[in-house]
This record gives sequence, C-alpha cells and structure tokens, in this order.
Amino acid sequence: MIPFLDLKAQYASIKDEVDAAALRVLASTQYVLGEEVAAFENEFATYCGARHAIAVNTGTSALHLALLAAGIGPGDEVITVPFTFVASVSAVCYTGARPVFVDIEPRTLTMDPSRLEAAITPRTKAIMPVHLYGQMADMAPIMEIAQRHGIPVIEDACQAHGAQYRGERAGSIGLAGCFSFYPGKNLGACGEGGLVVTNDDATAKAIRMLRDWGQEQRYHHTLKGFNYRMDGIQGAILRVKLRHLEGWTEARRANARRYTSLLRDVETVTSPTEALDRRHVYHIYAVRSADRDGLKQNLDAAGIATGLHYPIPVHLQKAHADLGHREGDFPVSEQAAREVLSLPLYPEMTSDQVATVVDAIAQATMVKPPRAALRVG
Ligand SMILES: *Cc1c(COP(=O)(O)O)cnc(C)c1O
Repeated sequence: MIPFLDLKAQYASIKDEVDAAALRVLASTQYVLGEEVAAFENEFATYCGARHAIAVNTGTSALHLALLAAGIGPGDEVITVPFTFVASVSAVCYTGARPVFVDIEPRTLTMDPSRLEAAITPRTKAIMPVHLYGQMADMAPIMEIAQRHGIPVIEDACQAHGAQYRGERAGSIGLAGCFSFYPGKNLGACGEGGLVVTNDDATAKAIRMLRDWGQEQRYHHTLKGFNYRMDGIQGAILRVKLRHLEGWTEARRANARRYTSLLRDVETVTSPTEALDRRHVYHIYAVRSADRDGLKQNLDAAGIATGLHYPIPVHLQKAHADLGHREGDFPVSEQAAREVLSLPLYPEMTSDQVATVVDAIAQATMVKPPRAALRVG
C-alpha cells in the first residue's frame, strides 16, 4: 500500500519542534495574528525574495485580497486559466469581476503566453497565471505583455512554494503572489493558512488592512474589510516547517527525477516536463496516459493511491456555467483533464516506493499478447 502523501511521516520527523511551537502559542495566548505570525511573515518574505508578506487564513483569501488591493471589482475582467483548482476562479468571482480564460500550453500545463494578448480587452484589470503542480508559468512573456498594457499580474503560487523562474522565486515577479498552507501543500499548516507576498508598499498596506476588518487603527475602518486573519498556532508551526522546506523540496525533486528516469522505459505514459529555465517543486507529479481511467483503476487494485488534478476544467464546471462556455472552447485544458494522473510523491517517499509505483504502471499498461498467442504451446 503506497499512500498519495504521508503527513504522519512528516509530523513524526519534526514532532518535538512542532509541539513546542504550538505549546508556546497556547501559553502566550496570542491566538490570532501576534508575534509568531509576524515573525513567519518576515521569514517567508525573505524566503521569497519579496519586501512584504501578509499572512491570512487561506490561499483563497490571499487571492481575493490581492485582487481587491489591485482595485479589481464589478465590471472588470481578470484573465486566468481553466486548468486549475476552482479556487483561482472563485477568488475572481468574489470581487464581482468576470473570469476570462486563456488555454494552457501542452508541455508545462501553465498559461500559454501566445494566447494571452488576444484575450485582453479594455476591461481587463489583472492577469492571474497559475504556477500549476509547482512549476511556474512562463513569466517573462506574460510580464512583457502585461506591462505593455499596464495590467497588474497576480501570481497564483498556491502550489509553488520555493519554485523559481530564471532564478526568481514564485510570488516575487508580479504585483503580488499568493500562497496556500493547506495541510497537503508543500508547506502546510496544521489547519488552514495563506499568505500574500508583494514588493509594493501600497498593496501590502491595503492587504494588511483588508484582512483585519479594513482597520488602520482599532475601530477605525478605512476599508470594507474581512476577517481573514491567520491563527497564532499556524504561524508558529509554519515557522518550524519553513526551516525544513528546502530539504523537503530537494527530496521531492529527487523522487521526481527517479520517476522520470524509470518511466522512460514505459511507453504508455508521459512524464511531466520541467522547463529548462525553471525550478519545479513537484507539489504534484502528474503523468499523462491515453487510458488514464484504466490505469488509475489498475493502480487502485495494486494498492497505489493516485489523484486527479483536475478531472474537469473550470470552464466546464456547473458552478461556472453562467460564463457560457462549452466543450471545445479550451481544447488543451480539456485534453489534459482527460489524461493527467497524479502519482504518489512526498519528501519521505523512498526510492523503493517510487520503483514499486513504476513497476505497477508498467504491469498495468503492458501490451497483452493476443489470446491466440497464449494458447500456442
Ligand atoms: C490550494 C489552492 C488554492 C486555494 O488555497 P486554499 O488554502 O485551499 O484556500 C488556490 N489555487 C490553487 C492553484 C491551489 O492549489
């Protein structure tokens, strides 16, 4: 039995540090925001190479506030991709703006910059690429087009803690970068968490106010704000885990390299592409298979857990039917949704476990000899 990820193994490896951090907050009674959250913000900003970090309660809230701080509201359009977790698109809807999709490129499954300009209208007020699976979108052409049109870029880096594009960290290139600390993410809280990084002082100030009821001083509400604050316990635990993140990321990358090299001999599946100018942090290791559902069934039967990220692109979800899209509108996303299968991958996974998964894939997809051939002899 190989699980999809193993949070118990991670906890066991850092139990003493995590327990001490949580107990410190219980004793301090700083249960919401407070010193631990402020220290985590500073440490995560440094990690990303950004000036400011503002911690919030979820990655979705991070996206929502980054969009609001960029001035997005009803009547505006925000360009993003349909092949993502639904939260990227929901955050746009929360502001009252309309999500406008551009398709992804088939190799990296991130926003296709060659389709971006055609989607820009006078109403376009932000561009939100998604750094899917832990690999950054092709930021240089996206930033070039955005700057030429004077449109801010908000990075959905919820799957991409520590990823790099030409040496620059996820979240530090656009106006703002948004992270999630949902437990299964590469950096995960013991509960919910999120954060925005930005190099822009005014954006940082607006997000800081918006997360805490829009107040500049207590009970002086300058903006219509939200209760999107991070818990003290999460801040303290995330500080502990941040110290381990680079080691975990390197372990993920080593396992990804093992998968890719072993899968070279398995013709029925295609390994993910890591672009040469990027550091992929492998939140998800997704292969592609023409018979994805059959392969998933066979792996289930062999005791190997897999995932589907994501089986239905957002433009075909019922919840977003009001956008008026149909099958065929974004064919690259639709094909990816039919073909991707996420394999188990986590830092504590051993090379034997990786080999076991690859053997099971090879067996499951082996070309079976025709019946006649079996009878002979
Ligand atoms: C996880 C995720 C989110 C939302 O983060 P939450 O913390 O679950 O709200 C947004 N976008 C992407 C791409 C994600 O993977």
